[in-house]
Order: sequence, then C-alpha cells, then structure tokens
Amino acid sequence: MIGETSSLAGQTVLLKGWVNARRDMGKVCFIDLRDRTGILQVVLVPSVLGEEGKELMKGLRSEYVLAIEGEIKDRDAKSINENIPTGKIEMLATKITILNAAKTPPFELDKDTRGINEEVRLKYRYLDLRTERMQKNIRLRDRVMQHSRQFLAKEGFTEIETPMLTKGTPEGSREFIVPSRLHPENFYVLPQSPQQFKQLLMVAGVERYFQFARCLRDEDQRGDRQPEFTQCDLEMSFVEREDVMDLVERLMTDMVKTVTPEKVIAQTPFPVMTYKEAMEKYGSDKPDLRKDKNDPNEMAFCWVVDFPMFETLDDGSVQAMHHPFCSVNPEDREKLMSGNDMMSIRANAYDLVCNGYEIWGGSIRIHERDVQNRIFELLGLSPEEIQTKFGHMLEAFEFGAPPHGGIASGFDRVMMILCNEPNIREVIAFPKTGDARDLLMNAPSPLPKKSLDEANIQVKK
Ligand code: ASP
Repeated sequence: MIGETSSLAGQTVLLKGWVNARRDMGKVCFIDLRDRTGILQVVLVPSVLGEEGKELMKGLRSEYVLAIEGEIKDRDAKSINENIPTGKIEMLATKITILNAAKTPPFELDKDTRGINEEVRLKYRYLDLRTERMQKNIRLRDRVMQHSRQFLAKEGFTEIETPMLTKGTPEGSREFIVPSRLHPENFYVLPQSPQQFKQLLMVAGVERYFQFARCLRDEDQRGDRQPEFTQCDLEMSFVEREDVMDLVERLMTDMVKTVTPEKVIAQTPFPVMTYKEAMEKYGSDKPDLRKDKNDPNEMAFCWVVDFPMFETLDDGSVQAMHHPFCSVNPEDREKLMSGNDMMSIRANAYDLVCNGYEIWGGSIRIHERDVQNRIFELLGLSPEEIQTKFGHMLEAFEFGAPPHGGIASGFDRVMMILCNEPNIREVIAFPKTGDARDLLMNAPSPLPKKSLDEANIQVKK
C-alpha cells in the first residue's frame, strides 16, 4: 500500500492503483499513483522498462488502473515534496501492467470538484468520490460512526435494527408508501424514524437502544433536505431529560476530541436555554452562538428546551410540534388533562443546536395510556382513528411500560459541520438532487406494466 512506502526505501514492491496524474518529460515520465492510502510519485524510464514497457508507458492516461513493480528510492534533496506524506521517496518502475484502461473522466479527479456542475458530479458519483475531498468526507463519516458505536456500547447500549416496511409514524412529514403485492389494496409505509419501535423496545426491557437508522420522508423541495437521511437514534429507560442531554453532550465532546481534534468547542458544559428565551433573544430556536462565524473550527453548541407541545398550522389545524409521543412539563399536566390553554403547554423536549443547525432532537416520552390518549384527543383524532393508528402503542403502555426518553441526531448534518461542508450532499455517498432524483441510477423511473400489475397498481395519467 502506498501509505506504507515511506519507510521502504531500498525495497522492491508491487503497488496497485489509479493514475492520478501523468507528467511526460520527454525522456522520462512521472505518474502519481493513487490508492486508498495515498499518492506516490512513480518514475518511468524507458531504458529500465524494456521494449514492451516503453509501449505501455506511452499509452498511460489519467485514471488507468495499474499494477506497478519497482524499487522505492529516496528522492534527491531538490525534488523533495513536503506537501505529501510520501514526498521524500519515489518509485522507479521496473514492470507495469495495465489492469484496466479508463475513458477521459467528465471532470478532473486530481482537483477539487466543488466548482463542477452538481448534476454531472451526481451522475458520475463513483468518479466524484475518487477525489481527495470526497474520500476524506466519506472516511471521516465512517470514523465518526465507529466512534459513536464504541461510545454507546461502553455506555451499555444495544444496537437493534427496526423494520423499513411498516406502518406510518407521525413525525410531521408525508410518508413514502409501498403497495403490498400479497395483500391487494393494502400498503406499507416507510419509516420517518424508528420512533414507535424504539419506544416499544423500552417496553421490551431493552433499556438502552441505539441504531444508525435510515429515515424516509416524502417532503417537498425545501432547503438542504434529502428524502432519505441517517439518524443516530437512541432511547433510554428510567431517565430524566438531564440524563439524555448529559449522555449526548459527553458523546459529542468525546467525538470532537478524538475524531476531529482540530475543532474547538466554544463552551462546555453546553449552554441551555428555553425555547422562549431563544426566540426572544435570537429570534430563532436554533441560534448560531459562534463568536467568529468565519472560523471553520469553532463549534458552538447549545441546548434548547421547553418547546411548545403543540403548534398551529397554516390551515388552522393543530399538530404536535415535535411528535405526539412527547411528555409534557409536569407543571402543565393540569392544562393537558383539562384541555385549557393547550397552546401554552410545554413539551418535555430538547434540541441540541450547533452553529445554527439543529443536530439532535428528542424528548422524554409519555408512558401512560390515558395521557397518550389525551394527546391524541387534543390533536383531534376520533376514538376510532386513535385505535386504528395507535392502538398497539396504547396497549403496550398497559403492560408495564417503563418511563423512558430518547433523542436522535441528524447524522448528515453533524457530518456536514465536522467536514466543513456547505450542504449534506457533500457527506453522503450517493445523495439525491434537491428535487429527490437519483441521477446515477436514474430513479424514480417508470415500471413495466407487468411489475405494476403484480403490485396491483393502476397508474393515473
Ligand atoms: N424520532 C424523533 C425525530 O425523528 C427523534 C426523537 O424524538 O428521538 O425527530
């Protein structure tokens, strides 16, 4: 591997990788060979390569896939390159094999692709991902994920997968629906989040659950959103909101320290403010508290608590601001049960904000049947609707449901901040466009009639 070659001067090695760049100097030719561990300068000298090698050498182009055998040598002082880890050595090639040729890529891969048309980058995402910045982003994403997994495992959490084909869970968005072939006229819904399942796992005695969960929301084009995104989702039994907030604060602090030590956390413990204070003081429930908004390494976290339980939509209807499973501030329980002054009821909900983005959000939940039922009533659901939509949750609460609460991160946003990127598409391997198209696979796309018939679907023209 290229990353190991710095200590191998004098040895003959075999390397495999891509031609990152090629510089023809007439008598000799230089290749920057790239693999997942780095870039190495390879010197091709016709007299060393022999007749066959000479021919090959002429035909080499950017992004060709090569196996090269050669000797690692110290560079002479004047050609040392301090900018790359292998800058003190180079390889003198003795044998080249072309493993595969490559067409000229639609954009240059040895340069940052930030300025390239995004539709082209997304269509050729597998090439875009070869570039240095994108490689860094997806590998950092992996390291952050591994860090969270290890941290949470040490804290006694169990990672559990929950279903993708399920029934709706109300998190305030439109849902993707999947027709059932085996049960005509019936549908699955893709989960907006594992909310109900994770609460049921608390009833199941798991006590500490987490999951890197894919969430699906069929939203209209609005800002920097993706129809599918990732959450680090967790739930805990027998906790107060301070316990959940403390866990996440320790997780984030440890993550920044170990994975991105160049970042500086502006203030610890993270400041806490109520929704009311945030709105009055900053006019926003996600205030950007950075001292220097141009400092790419500053991370200014703050907690926002005591969100309103309900909000009124444009059409006058009332919905749960976070979701209907949040418990309410104990001081407001009276208002909840009586239904008086319900818009002033505060939810036992909390968000973690960083640099003006909401990056985690959660709440202490309701675990009592009558309280949960009351929320559904206040949201205007009829007893029949409550039963068909949420009967299973109400029933579960009757079998010894422990008090519980949890939280979930918008993991893509966390990565966007850690990678200093302006949008979440830069930290997702295969993102969709702002209007939810996958340009690489060409989705969504029409289906043949046979498939539609099998799925019992008739398309409206
Ligand atoms: N399910 C919630 C969400 O997706 C997070 C939580 O309450 O834990 O926003």
